[in-house]
Amino acid sequence: MNRKIVVIGGGASGLMAGIQAARRGASVTILEHNEKPGKKLLATGNGKCNLTNLKIDPADYCTDCPATVRKVLQQFGPEETVQWFERIGLRIFDRQGWVYPCTEQAASVLDLLLWEAERYHVHFKNKEEVLSVENRTAAMGFTVKTKSWQYDADAVILASGSPASAVRGSSDFAARFASERNIPFAGFIPVLVPLRMADPSLGGWNGTRVHAAAALYIDGVPCRSELGEIQLTSSGISGIPVFQLSRYAAPALQADKKVVLTLDFLPEMKADELEDFWINREQNYSSRTYSQLLTGILPDRLIPVILAAAGLRGSMCPSLADHEENGTLSVLLELLKEFPVRIRGTLPMDQAQVCSGGICVSALTETLMCRKHPGIYAAGEAVNADGPCGGYNLQWAWSSGFAAGKAAAEEV
Ligand SMILES: Cc1cc2nc3c(=O)[nH]c(=O)nc-3n(C[C@H](O)[C@H](O)[C@H](O)COP(=O)(O)OP(=O)(O)OC[C@H]3O[C@@H](n4cnc5c(N)ncnc54)[C@H](O)[C@@H]3O)c2cc1C
Repeated sequence: MNRKIVVIGGGASGLMAGIQAARRGASVTILEHNEKPGKKLLATGNGKCNLTNLKIDPADYCTDCPATVRKVLQQFGPEETVQWFERIGLRIFDRQGWVYPCTEQAASVLDLLLWEAERYHVHFKNKEEVLSVENRTAAMGFTVKTKSWQYDADAVILASGSPASAVRGSSDFAARFASERNIPFAGFIPVLVPLRMADPSLGGWNGTRVHAAAALYIDGVPCRSELGEIQLTSSGISGIPVFQLSRYAAPALQADKKVVLTLDFLPEMKADELEDFWINREQNYSSRTYSQLLTGILPDRLIPVILAAAGLRGSMCPSLADHEENGTLSVLLELLKEFPVRIRGTLPMDQAQVCSGGICVSALTETLMCRKHPGIYAAGEAVNADGPCGGYNLQWAWSSGFAAGKAAAEEV
C-alpha cells in the first residue's frame, strides 16, 4: 500500500514537500486554507520571485541549530534548486547571484510547481483549514482534522508557514500545533520589516527615497551596516538595507535593548572629503542659505529635517570663519554622515516579509522529523530558520520541503 502523507499548507515548502514525497511513490494530499495554493509565492520579489541566491552562506540564517540547517541546505542547495526548476521547465537568470525566473513572474514558478504536482497525482484540497492533528489510537499514524473533514495519514508534514505579511492564509498554526504537542518553539517575531522611529518630528521626510548607508547600534555597540536605497516614511524607515538590519534590530527590541540606526546620506564621500567639498561649496556660494547649499546634495524633504536637527532651520549661512568657530559646521557635517534615528519598534506582523522563530530545529532530526513525534515533519517558515532578503527564505522553503518530503516518503 502507498504511504499516505498529508501536507498542511500549499505554500512554497508544502508544494516542494508534496512533489518530492509523491515522486517517491507516496499518496500525497495537500490541505490548503486558501482557495488556491501558493498565494504568498505570488507576492515574492514584488511579483518577480527571487527564488534563490547562488551566493548563499548557511551562516547567514538565524536559527537555534546551524549545523542541521547547513545539512538540509547541503542536500538540496541553490545549485540543485536551479537545476530542478530548469528540469521542470523554468528558464532562470541571476542578477549578482539573486536568481529570478526569466519571465520575471512568480506566477510562472507557481504554475510549473502545480503542474509538477499534478504529474505525480498530488491531491489538493483547497479551502481546508487544518484545526488539529491527532494520533490514531487503534493504528499507527495520524488523523488530520479540518472544519468539515478528517484525513488519515501515515506521516504529516507541517508546512503552514508563519503569520508574516498581509497575504491571506498567513497563520500561526505552527505555534498552536507546537504548543499542543509540547514541541520546543521559538516565538514568531516579524523580521524583514520596516522599523518604527521614536521621534515623530522626523516624519517630514515622508516619501523620500535616498541612496544611503545604514548602521545599526544595539546598546551603543555597532552591530552591522548595509548600503542601498532607503525609504523614509512618516513613521519610520524601510527598504532592503533596513529589512536586512531588522533581523538584528527586532530581537534586540524584544529584549528591551536600545536600538539606534545611523544614516550616512553621502556614503561615497569620506568625512574629510565631505568637509573639503562643503567648505568649497560655502566659498563658491557665500550668499546662499543652508537650505540652498544642501539643494542638489539631498532630496528636498530631507533638507529641513537635517537643518532642524542641526538647529539651523532657515538660517543664512554665516561666514565660514564664524561657522567653523561656533561648531555648527561640524554638527551639520556629522549629521550628513551619521544621522541618528532612535528605533522604538518594528512595524506589525502584517508589514513583515518573514518571521523569525518557529519549531526549534533542535527538536527535529536532520530529515526534519519531530524527535518527540515520529512521523511528523516540518518545513519552511514553520521552522526556526530565517535568512536575509535575496532568495534565502525561499531557498529554505525548497531545501526543507525537499528534505521533509523525501524522508516522509522513505522513512518508516
Ligand atoms: C511580500 C513578500 C515578498 C517576499 N519575497 C521573497 C523573495 O523574493 N525571495 C525569498 O526568498 N523570500 C521571499 N519572501 C519570503 C517567502 O515568501 C517565504 O519565506 C516562503 O513563502 C515561506 O514558505 P512556506 O511554505 O513556509 O510558507 P507559505 O508560503 O506562507 O505557505 C504556507 C501555506 O500554509 C497555509 N496554511 C496556514 N495555516 C494553515 C492551516 N491551518 N490549514 C491549512 N493551510 C494553512 C497558508 O494559507 C499558506 O498557503 C517574501 C515574503 C513576502 C510576504
